[in-house]
Amino acid sequence: MFVAHRKPGELVDEAEREGYPRSFCSWIKGIYSVVRTEGFRRMVGVTQGDCSNTHALIETLADEGVEVITFAYPFDRDRRALRGELERFLERLGVSWNDAEEWKGRLDVFREKALAVDEGNMEAGGLQATEVNQLLLSTSDMMAGDMEGFGRVLDDVIESKILPAGEGRREHKEIRLGIAGVPFIFNDLLEWLEERRGVRVVYLEIPRQFAMPYGGEDLVEQYWHYTYPYGIFPRLEDIKLELGRRRLDGLIHYVQGFCYRQVEDIILRRHLKLPILTLEGDRPNPLDAKSILRLETFLEMLAG
Ligand code: SF4
Repeated sequence: MFVAHRKPGELVDEAEREGYPRSFCSWIKGIYSVVRTEGFRRMVGVTQGDCSNTHALIETLADEGVEVITFAYPFDRDRRALRGELERFLERLGVSWNDAEEWKGRLDVFREKALAVDEGNMEAGGLQATEVNQLLLSTSDMMAGDMEGFGRVLDDVIESKILPAGEGRREHKEIRLGIAGVPFIFNDLLEWLEERRGVRVVYLEIPRQFAMPYGGEDLVEQYWHYTYPYGIFPRLEDIKLELGRRRLDGLIHYVQGFCYRQVEDIILRRHLKLPILTLEGDRPNPLDAKSILRLETFLEMLAG
């Protein structure tokens, strides 16, 4: 709801007018303004596994009367602790474990379809990464709760846009790129890469994780396999696996301005053996001249 907003920059401005500093992550500022402008009275706040900026978000919204239900991923990825936290969370929502498992089964259908679209993008032509990105991200809220509509969109894409492997490819050798890191805030990065530079983006690390590709047989396994909340090392394993499977020529590591996860770039570079461009964004704007120049240089190096 933030990045798809008609003027997402105004949401960031609004948070700054309320007192959020300029030197603070724009994702938090945008989400803060969405909760207020949409009039949400209840929210889930992740207190471990996201970032400390989320704590400030929770505190400011709670102070404005929003009911916050917290959830903490255990940092050490301990299964028993995760189960305990899930039980606490369900109790707080007044939902039984069995009901939650039943809902997991229903939602898994949509996750599987979104992941089929992602696999289709990896192997065949016919899809645009912009669309794949949007569908994968939508698994985090099932297209703002419109499950039927989401199912129709997914079926339509699977039936009409996934071409058989080999069809729809361009004649010249394509550069195959992946994007790792927190969701990028540039609103034209994928269009720029694919439509203006003819690059194929075949790996979107975190949007794919939002779809929970290693589903697991129950809720504990599903949330245990989800790499995003447990630091860089589980993510690194997942990224290494996908680099080979998706035959990547290079990786863009997107980092968000004023985000602690920027430091993880050091570890990614130490452990991944392929060309990496670290790209930093701040506000929900199109690519700026400096970023375009860096991308151009990176693509030239890969093409050469
Ligand atoms: S981008 Fe970084 S600072 Fe911003 S919300 Fe995500 S983890 Fe926190």
